[in-house]
This record gives sequence, C-alpha cells and structure tokens, in this order.
Amino acid sequence: AIYLDGLSTAPLAPEARAAMLAAWDQPGNPSSPHAAGERAAALVETARRSVADLVGASSAEIVFTSGATEANNLAIAGAAAAAITGGSERRHVVVTSIEHKSVLEAAWRLRAVGFTVDIAPVTKAGVVDLGELAALIRNDTLLVSVMAANNETAVLQPIAEVAALAHAVGALLHCDAAQAVGKVPVDVIDLDVDFMSVSSHKMYGPMGVGALYVSAAAPRPTPLLVGGGQENGLRAGTEPAPLIAGFGTAAEVARSRLEKDARHAKSLLGAFLQDLSERQVKIHVNGNVSKLLPGAINISIDGIDAQSLAMIMARTVMISTGSACNSGQINSSHVLDAMDVDEKRKKEALRICFGRYHSDPDAREAARQLGDAINRMR
Ligand code: PLP
Repeated sequence: AIYLDGLSTAPLAPEARAAMLAAWDQPGNPSSPHAAGERAAALVETARRSVADLVGASSAEIVFTSGATEANNLAIAGAAAAAITGGSERRHVVVTSIEHKSVLEAAWRLRAVGFTVDIAPVTKAGVVDLGELAALIRNDTLLVSVMAANNETAVLQPIAEVAALAHAVGALLHCDAAQAVGKVPVDVIDLDVDFMSVSSHKMYGPMGVGALYVSAAAPRPTPLLVGGGQENGLRAGTEPAPLIAGFGTAAEVARSRLEKDARHAKSLLGAFLQDLSERQVKIHVNGNVSKLLPGAINISIDGIDAQSLAMIMARTVMISTGSACNSGQINSSHVLDAMDVDEKRKKEALRICFGRYHSDPDAREAARQLGDAINRMR
C-alpha cells in the first residue's frame, strides 16, 4: 500500500527511531541530579539545540510540549492570561478562518474572559487576505495568529507580511508552523514571529511531542501546566527524553536535507499529476498552486466523490479527504468553506502528500491505482 497522507502524520525517520530506541534503554529523569538524570538532560538539551537550529532560534527560546495542539494552546491562552495578570488593556485577538481547530478553539475560549475574537478571511486561493486582516487589527489587539502552511490545502501564508501588520500596533504574532517546519525554510527572525508552534510527527519525528518557540523579546506566556517547573517554568511535567531525542534527531535530519527533500517531493507530485492527466483524469487544484508545501496538494477530481474514492482506496493508496482531526465527522471542511469552494468541488476534494520516503515508482503506481479506481467508479 502507498501512504499519501503525510499531512496527517508522516512516517517515522529511521534516524529518529534509532535515537528513541537508544534513549528508551537509558532511563533517567532529566531533572535528577545523578548520572542517569544528567544523561537524560543532555539528550533533551541536544534536541533543544537541534530544534532551535532548524528554525533559527536560540535554545532558550524552545519549550517542549506534547505537540502543536498544546503549543497553540500555550501561546494563545498563555499570552491572554499573561496580559490579564500583567495589567495589559488589550482584549482582542485575530485568527484566520483556516486555522487548525486547536488555534480556533483556543481563541474562542478567550471570549469567556472578556476577549473579542475576529476571524480574518482568506482568498479563494486559500491565502489570508492581508487587506482584510489589516482592517481587523486594532490598537487593543493583543495577539494575531496565522498559520505558516495550511494542513488541508498545503497553501503557504505570508507570515512576514502579517508580522509587519501585527507589530505596527504592538500586537504579538503567533504562527502555527506545524506543517511548514522541516519542509520549507522557516526562520523565526526572518518571519519576525513572537510565538511559533512546531509538531514532531509532521516532520518524520515521533507523535506526542512538539515545541513552542517563545521569543526572548516577547512577554512570557502564563503556563498551562504548573507543577515541577520544567521547561523554564513554561511547561511542568517530566520531559519525555526519548520522544524529545527522536524529535531532535528528526529536526537535524530535516535541516540537513531540506532542499533535497523538497525537490524530491515536488518531482514526485509532478510525476503523479502528469500521469493522472495522461489517464484523462480532470482535476482542479484547491488553493494557490504557486505557493504550496513541496509534494502536497488538495485536488478535486471532476465527477468523483472523494469519500467514496478514499474508501475504495483505503487499502491500496491511502489518501484523505480533509484534516484527520475532523475525519469521522461528516461536516465539510471549514477550510474549503472559507475559500468558498463550491459544494460539488468540496465533495470531490482530496488531500495528497508525497514525501521523503516515496519513490518514482510509488508515484506512478499511485496514479495507476487512482486512475483504475476512478474508471471503475465511472
Ligand atoms: N496545527 C496544524 C496546522 C496541524 O496540521 C496539526 C496536525 O494535526 C496540528 C496543529 C496539531 O498538531 P499535533 O498533532 O502535534 O498536536
């Protein structure tokens, strides 16, 4: 079977797996003051350096979390709580209509503590509308949250431009970069973000771990979890050293082959689409085709119900029709809704992702299988 659902979760890099296996065999709490503890702490600090290097941060600015969901919650709830206790008058947050649910829900929660939340629209191409966003940002805006790349369409967002808008009024910028880090160059200084979320399992690391970048210049968010004061007081709980070691190794590998991976993924997607077109399969791209994560795309196949196709292919070519977090739900995608994709095309929408571990024959075989299934459906 060919797995093309790497935006839900990417396969584990063998290097990350090896790092974890070695770490599991060496028990030790990173906070313990003996050799085993020191060894575990060293693993965590090495990984912190690797994750920091991947995004152009300094080690002290990386807080390990259980994933991007937690990082998003920490940035949004944490910044709001810090504003309230710190005496800031700012009670306004802006997010986009295509954010991951962990950003949207975290923002909506703030309404209960007196915040107003505005949702910035996107264009039909799935890119945040900078003019509309600028109009929503106010003098009392505390935080703007815009993702680096969307998880359903793979469309990259203009983060540096958003940063300029947010910073012009003294607002903070949070960026959910779960899908972008490790796949395209992401540099916290170039993007000028204050907070940025990273997920390990989207970049060939293990599930259950991620990070929040907290700029040294930004106000300290209030932690969600309190207790032992780990992670510089921003995230209590014993650091899972083996998971973090796997994440750090995945970050190193991603950094060393970022361009190579991108070129490879792009070329496979190109071959796949070319093959589909030779099979007379008519597709429509949902999203700005010139600004996509390498190897990933959201397409609608003319006249083919995506749910049925994905079901038929479930054991041969694994694809998904939307974000994994919403699958199982019959609800249509809030992302495609926000892009004003028409009903027919929405039902035809598929998300496909080629990556590091696919080969050219995989791309050809996936196109062949898809073409055959489409012919059978017709
Ligand atoms: N943000 C985006 C854009 C995602 O695609 C995901 C993945 O589901 C998340 C956040 C959540 O990440 P995690 O699974 O690490 O909690």
